[in-house]
Amino acid sequence: MRLLIVEDDPSIAEPLVSGLERQGYAVTWVKTGVDALNAPEHDLVLLDLGLPDLDGQVVCRRLRERSTVPIVVVTARSDELDRVTLLELGADDYVVKPYGFRELVARIRAVLRRTARDDVGEDPTGRLEVGNLTIDQRTRGVKVGDAELFLTPKEYDLLLLLAEDAGAVFTRDQILRAVWDENWWGSTKTLDVHVASLRKKLGDPSLIETVRGVGYRMRS
Ligand code: CA
Repeated sequence: MRLLIVEDDPSIAEPLVSGLERQGYAVTWVKTGVDALNAPEHDLVLLDLGLPDLDGQVVCRRLRERSTVPIVVVTARSDELDRVTLLELGADDYVVKPYGFRELVARIRAVLRRTARDDVGEDPTGRLEVGNLTIDQRTRGVKVGDAELFLTPKEYDLLLLLAEDAGAVFTRDQILRAVWDENWWGSTKTLDVHVASLRKKLGDPSLIETVRGVGYRMRS
């Protein structure tokens, strides 16, 4: 995997480059928007918005105009851009400085996984497949092989969340917020109960892995 890092600040870029190389990525580092636009095609671009020459948003838009390369935007302040602007620019995700290295790597992996899946052709009917599990988002139907499962609405939402980014770890908090709601103050035991019943229905308990002390993930 070849990553293009666009970052003018060496104190940020240098540790980032060596860290990502240690993770096995081939990294090219450029310091300006012009160099970013002149760089050969990469598998992912990590783009700082505060660049010395061009506005990072312009760089993002121009990259997107000519390529489908996944772009993760790095921004200094959380209010610098909202999610809508970001999508309009064509970015796939963003991180806010100062970010943790592990968080960044997790985002990069998630974006690469997501775009790899899109490349093989996301089914326009909204079907999602993980192993022998099929989720039809149009009908909320779930099958293991040919056998249809009957899930409660929450079980379905939980399964879909995990399956949409199989392999990624979701914290208990993320899951509770996504599947229950923003201000859910109930017992987190509810989550374990739902995971247990979902595992039972799936017939393969190892499909949903417990990440001890953190949360859950779907085996990819
Ligand atoms: Ca900068």
